[in-house]
Amino acid sequence: MRMTVLASGSKGNSTVIASPNTTILVDAGLSCRELLKRMKAAGENPSTLSAILITHEHQDHVTGLAVLARKLGIPVYFTEPTHRAWVRSLTPRTTMTYAQWLDKNQKEKEVRAAEVAAQVAKDPDAASVTVSSSWVTAQPGGASIDLAASADPGLIGPDADLDSEEALCDDTTTARRDPTALPAVEYFQAGANFSIGDISVTAFTIPHDAADPCGFVFESQGEHIRMAIATDLGYVPPNVKAALRRVDVLLLESNHDLDMLKDGPYPWSVKQRVLSRVGHLSNRAAAEFLSRDYDGGAAYIVLGHLSEQNNDPSLALLAAREAVDDRMSLLGNKIVLAEQAAPLSPITL
Ligand SMILES: [Zn+2]
Ligand SMILES: [Zn+2]
Repeated sequence: MRMTVLASGSKGNSTVIASPNTTILVDAGLSCRELLKRMKAAGENPSTLSAILITHEHQDHVTGLAVLARKLGIPVYFTEPTHRAWVRSLTPRTTMTYAQWLDKNQKEKEVRAAEVAAQVAKDPDAASVTVSSSWVTAQPGGASIDLAASADPGLIGPDADLDSEEALCDDTTTARRDPTALPAVEYFQAGANFSIGDISVTAFTIPHDAADPCGFVFESQGEHIRMAIATDLGYVPPNVKAALRRVDVLLLESNHDLDMLKDGPYPWSVKQRVLSRVGHLSNRAAAEFLSRDYDGGAAYIVLGHLSEQNNDPSLALLAAREAVDDRMSLLGNKIVLAEQAAPLSPITL
C-alpha cells in the first residue's frame, strides 16, 4: 500500500492512497493542472485514479475538484452535507438586499423604457443604440458588456453579476457549463465503512468548522496495511483516538505553534477560529496525542497542514519527536514533514 502526499497546508491539500489494484485521491485542493503536475513528479499516474474522496468543502481541499473529476471521468465521494455545502459554495448568490433589489428594478425599468422608445422610433439602428447605451449606464464604472461573451456562463465577468443568473438559466443542458457537474457522486456517511475497489475506507467525524468534516482510515483488503489521514481538527476527541489505533502510516495535523500564532499577524478573530475546538491542531495538541493516546505502532508519522505563517517545521518536528521519544526506532515511528510547495516521495509499505 502507498501514500503520496501531493500537498499539505492552508494553500492546498491532496494525497494519493493506493493499493495494488485501486488508487484514490483524497482531496483536490490545488488546480487540476498543478495536481496532475505533482502526480507526475511523484511518479503517480493520474489515469489509474478510481475516485476522489473529499474530507470537507473548504477551499484548500476542493479547488481543483470539479475540473479534475471531469477531466478524468471518475466519481467523487462526499458525505451528503459536504456535497451540498460544496454545491452551495459554487452556486451564484441569488439573494440580494432590498436596496439592491430596488436598484435592479429601477435599471430594468430604464431598459424597458428605452426599448419602448426605440420601438416608437421604429428605427432598428436607433433601437440597438438606445438599448445598449442603457446597459452601459447600468454597469458600475460604466463598463460595457459584450453580449456575445455573456451568453456563455463560463465567461461571465464580475461586472455582469446582476444578470449572471439569467445567463446561467439559459444553459442547463451542457454539463460543462455547470460548475458543480461531476461524472458521478457517491455518498458515504461519517462513522461508516465502505469500499472503493479493494480499499476499505472508514470515515470518522473530526471537529472542524465545516458542514460534515471527516478523517479516513484506509486498509488494503489483501495486505491489512492501514493508513490514516487526520488533518483539519480542533482537538483529538475519543472517536478519532479510537479510529487511529493500529495504523501503519498516520498523516496527522500539526498546524501551528501556539506562541507563533498568538504573536503572529492574523487578526484576533482568525486566531480565535484556529485555536477553537473546531479549528486546527497545534504542535502541542498533536504531541499530546502522540505521547498519551497513540499506540506507537506506525512505521511513519507524517506531520501535515503546517501553517506557513504560524509554524516552523523544526518546531513541529521537535514536538512530535519528543512525544514519540523512546518509541522511535529504525523500523518504526519515522517522522516526516509534509510540504505545501512540493510532493513527498511515496511512502510504500
Ligand atoms: Zn478546513
Ligand atoms: Zn484545510
